[in-house]
Amino acid sequence: MSDQPLEIDRRGIMLVVSSPSGAGKTTLTRNLLQEEKEVVMSVSVTTRAKRPSEIEGVHYHFISQRQFERMRENGDLLESAEVHGNCYGTPREPVEAALAAGKDVLFDIDWQGTQQLRHSVLAPDVITVFLLPPSAAELKARLERRAEDPSDVIKRRLENAADEIPHWVEYDYVLVNRELERSFTRLRSILTAERLKRVHPQNVQAFADQLLADLKGFAS
Ligand code: 5GP
Repeated sequence: MSDQPLEIDRRGIMLVVSSPSGAGKTTLTRNLLQEEKEVVMSVSVTTRAKRPSEIEGVHYHFISQRQFERMRENGDLLESAEVHGNCYGTPREPVEAALAAGKDVLFDIDWQGTQQLRHSVLAPDVITVFLLPPSAAELKARLERRAEDPSDVIKRRLENAADEIPHWVEYDYVLVNRELERSFTRLRSILTAERLKRVHPQNVQAFADQLLADLKGFAS
């Protein structure tokens, strides 16, 4: 009898994690990528200036407004949005390639992009998670600790958090990031459960048929 795990033959998941800036999303998603080798990160394009700690091609592809508009016009972006006065978008090709290779894809995008994915043909495999900070004070403290943005940018991000937070209702799951370890376990559990839902029925059928054939063999 085949001892192949059933999970290998399944549809890939598009796992979206959205949150206001400073809710701890980056740490959480980085940990998930470290532990889950079947998950790849979708690297967005953005017209925002690179922060000192960021690496081109790892955190973002930093592009000009013109390049951004060209990509959008050519249909090269799966979704796109303006956030904090800059343009962001998800390049289509790497996502399609990863899904075709049986990988899951993780997206760090805002609520506008999430809505676009949910209304796309890919919607059945889009799973959305909204991460809330434990408190407003903690959100502010995290943004200030990061200290990579000028104070007027921090102020704008706090204002934007107030616009972003009400969108939690549009998501499949909501996590309050009180403690990183607990949030991580919960995010991983979501991924595991959603993967199990997507095992191809014909794969299960083949496995069950084999079990029945073997059982018959015992009886004869
Ligand atoms: P930051 O500038 O702090 O890296 O990101 C600002 C916001 O833009 C975050 O909420 C992040 O989720 C969102 N974002 C990053 N990339 C994309 C993208 O490709 N599409 C959309 N819609 N939002 C994005």
